[in-house]
This record gives sequence, C-alpha cells and structure tokens, in this order.
Amino acid sequence: MKKVTVIGAGTMGNGIAHVFAQSGFSVALVDVSQDALNKAVATVSKNLDRMVAKGTITADVKEQTIKNISTNTALAAGVKDSILVVEAATENMDLKFKIFREMDQLCAPEVILASNTSSISITKIAAQTKRADKVIGMHFMNPVPVMKLVEVIRGYATSDETTKAILELSKQLGKIPTEVNDYPGFVANRILMPMINEAIITLFEGVAGVEEIDTVMKLGMAHPMGPLQLADFIGLDVCLSILHVMYDGFKNPKYAPCPLLVNMVMAGHLGVKSGNGFYEYVAGSKESKVAAQFRK
Ligand code: NAD
Repeated sequence: MKKVTVIGAGTMGNGIAHVFAQSGFSVALVDVSQDALNKAVATVSKNLDRMVAKGTITADVKEQTIKNISTNTALAAGVKDSILVVEAATENMDLKFKIFREMDQLCAPEVILASNTSSISITKIAAQTKRADKVIGMHFMNPVPVMKLVEVIRGYATSDETTKAILELSKQLGKIPTEVNDYPGFVANRILMPMINEAIITLFEGVAGVEEIDTVMKLGMAHPMGPLQLADFIGLDVCLSILHVMYDGFKNPKYAPCPLLVNMVMAGHLGVKSGNGFYEYVAGSKESKVAAQFRK
C-alpha cells in the first residue's frame, strides 16, 4: 500500500485524507492540534456514513477507508516512507515556508511535495527547498470528496515528470486535474475572487441587498450558490487574503478588496466559521438568514 501524508487536518485536510484513503492509499494525517485530528477523523467518518446511507459506497468500504487513516502530531513520524506529502495547513506564507523546509529535510529526495494553497506562490514555496522540480500545487476544491476539480499548479521550476505524476495520481483519486501555471490566484481564484469582490462592492454601494445580489447570480447565471453566500462558505478572511495576494502580485487596483470586506474581517464576521457574515448561521443547522446588518 502506498503511503501519502496530509499536513493540516482542517476543512481541506480531512477531505484530502478522505479521498486518498478511499482510493486505497495509506494516509498519515498530521496536525499540530490533537483536537483538529480527532475532529477530522470524526468528519471523515460522518461523511462516509452519508455515502453509505445514499448507497454510493458499502459499509466495508467505509470501514477500510477509516482504517487507512492514521493520525500524528509529529511531522517526522507522519512523513516517514510517504511517496507524496500534501500540505493543507493554515494559509500563512511563513508557516508554509517553515513546513516545506522541514519536509525537505525529512523526506527522501524523490518524494513529491505538494501544497493545497489557494494563493501563495508555488515558485516561492519551492524556493524554500532543494527540490524545486518536485514541488507542485495540488489545489483541491471544498468539499473535497464531492468536487471533481484539482487545479494542478506548476511552479516555475516544477518538472514535467512531477506534473505528470500528480496529474495521474489525481485521476486515480477519481478527480479531473487541470494544469495551470503559477501566477497570483492561479486560475480558479483569479476569476472567482474579483467576482466575489464585485458582489461585495455592489452591496456596499447600495445597488441591491444581499438576497437580491445572490438571487441574480443564482437564477440569472445558474450558479448553485450566490457570490455572497459562497464568500461566507469560503471564509471572508480567506477571500480577503487571496485578494491581497492578487493586489500585491499584479499591482492592479482592480483587485483592491472592498472596504466593507476589510471591515467585516476586522470585526471577526468571517462567514460560516464565525456564525455570521453576509448571512447568519446556526451551528449544526443548514438554515441561514440575512445578517442583521444587511436586513432592510
Ligand atoms: P483550516 O484552518 O480549516 O485548517 C488548517 C489546519 O492546519 C488546522 O487544523 C491547523 O491546526 C493546522 N496547522 C497549522 N499549523 C500547522 C503545522 N505547523 N503543522 C500541521 N498542521 C498545522 O484551513 P483550510 O480551510 O483547511 O485550508 C487549508 C489550506 O487549504 C490553505 O492553504 C487554504 O488556502 C487551502 N484551501 C482552502 C479552501 C477552503 O475552501 N477552505 C479551498 C481550497 C484550498
């Protein structure tokens, strides 16, 4: 059984561990927080239960998938004998640089080091290591077990061999990989974030209310979710930080974050994770209503 390591057991890490484990890989899930590891395994188990109930997988597959996942708070033990490490830790440049420097020391030279970063330059991350040709972006979408796309990001020095291996591996996970080059926002966020930012500017300028903006985009453009609700799900802090990366990277004012988004993040209104953003959410419930600040 081939072993992969997933670093970071949050929203994305648990999903990435899930798909590798369900595809027959032995997965070491690593996080600095034991609590995050416990929650991640519970989330994977709950998501697998849902798949069993729908008849998508059998109870045996669920049991085997859970068995394939081990957890660890120590990076050195977690990466031992892995053929691939997928880093999905908190979106912070210095933190990711440190993790990649450590992984470069700990892993055998042939091991591929991938990052699930939404916005940090793969080329910069790769430059922290002595194996820039083996560093690549593997950008899964949330929720990972459901979403088919993996945006495979080639850093400036990523080799053809590494890219080919990751494209093949993504297909083994039942995903559809798409190869893109390493420029700020890659492709997904370069197109998505300006749309979300424009929706926030439209609200800020009083052109329309929260529900009206989301309704136009849902019914008019056949988007499954409006841009303001999507921003809540992604996390308003995450949206802000990706816009900053694009603004800094291109020096183009079209990427300047809306002051309303900046204010909401400073106030701790981060979307679903804080219980309020453009909508208000109740933990454990799928119900939401327009947040008090935006009600007419
Ligand atoms: P999260 O905050 O849910 O989880 C991050 C986890 O990383 C936490 O459990 C934290 O304890 C852990 N962590 C922090 N420092 C660590 C370290 N030194 N070693 C090991 N673990 C550490 O974040 P997330 O939403 O899962 O995002 C993870 C990555 O995936 C980020 O780079 C983000 O940009 C990217 N991403 C997120 C989404 C999304 O919709 N949330 C989508 C695509 C990509």
